[in-house]
Amino acid sequence: MSKKELAIGVLGAGGNIGHTHSQNIATYVDGARLAAVYDLNTERAEEVAKTYGAKVMASAEELIASPEIDAVVIASWDGTHADLAVKCIEAGKPVFCEKPLATTLEDAKKVVEAEKASGKRLLQIGFMRRFDPDYIKMKKILDSGELGAPLMAHCISRTRSHPKNHTTEQHITNIAIHEIDICRWLLGENLNEVAVRFPRATCFAEGTCQDPQLVLMQSDSGVLIDVEVSGNSYYGYEILCELVCEKGTIRLPVAAEPIVRSYLQCGQAIPEDWTNRFVVAYQEELQHWVDYLQGKTDVPGPGAADGYEACKISDALIKAQTTGQWEKVEA
Ligand code: NAP
Repeated sequence: MSKKELAIGVLGAGGNIGHTHSQNIATYVDGARLAAVYDLNTERAEEVAKTYGAKVMASAEELIASPEIDAVVIASWDGTHADLAVKCIEAGKPVFCEKPLATTLEDAKKVVEAEKASGKRLLQIGFMRRFDPDYIKMKKILDSGELGAPLMAHCISRTRSHPKNHTTEQHITNIAIHEIDICRWLLGENLNEVAVRFPRATCFAEGTCQDPQLVLMQSDSGVLIDVEVSGNSYYGYEILCELVCEKGTIRLPVAAEPIVRSYLQCGQAIPEDWTNRFVVAYQEELQHWVDYLQGKTDVPGPGAADGYEACKISDALIKAQTTGQWEKVEA
């Protein structure tokens, strides 16, 4: 017997990722439909609703409380996540919450406590790289043990240009949070000590934001991780990761693009942003969420505990940005 189709409501549906999630729910995810949307920007919410045949709600609270909505996606800006997630959990609604779980450890704790009080696993977090086929292959090779123990990880996160109001701290809470999670997941262990170094700043950095930054993290078993976080690469979007093991290395492939030869030149196009790089991962994370809610898999996706652990590490990194020292991650 086929399971009931879940009616999903998307908060922040008019934004970049909110639109992507709305589209994926409406057109890709099996077992779910886009029932309602809400966005502070009503015009954009109406556009999404019209395109995918959903209803526009008057507020986030109305969408969360609506008996017509089975589960909620939070795709609004970082600072709104914790409060909205707690509201969903208190209403007993399963919630898919974009990263980060919260922008402070204190707020992340509130989400974890609300979920604990509910007695149910109600939250999946949008650490979508765990669903990217290339990272999955990397983990399989690492876990097979054929290359021996991992020793180091070299990561690069380059964004073409960051928004004008982007801050030094957001390089951690908004960008490096992906590397924090993917390294925890790849290595299967926690990170306990961190540091941040600031090289010469690029002329493209806006306001007071320190850009680029070099993030350093050490895992429990001693794997040393370095992450270049560039918010103004100028040339495009690029995510790289190489695990250095005792008997070889595993490197994330560069996104497959045709190699073009033209007059005295040979090259590949570089994506402008994340939208084209992680298409499959965005689809698969939502499919997994819906499958879990419908009991088609008993393996939950990344949850509140993963979001909380990542916040502990980002909290220590923000402290390290100021002290210039190696800082311990809260145990
Ligand atoms: P965005 O384009 O600015 O979209 C956010 C949308 O949410 C805007 O339309 C905004 O309206 C609206 N909004 C703000 N507060 C709201 C609230 N309380 N309730 C409902 N809507 C609200 O931002 P984005 O780039 O899509 O990012 C959104 C979130 O997704 C961020 O937390 C970001 O970290 C995350 N994200 C994750 C990935 C990933 O790879 N997993 C990729 C991109 C983004 P206004 O413009 O009027 O404020």
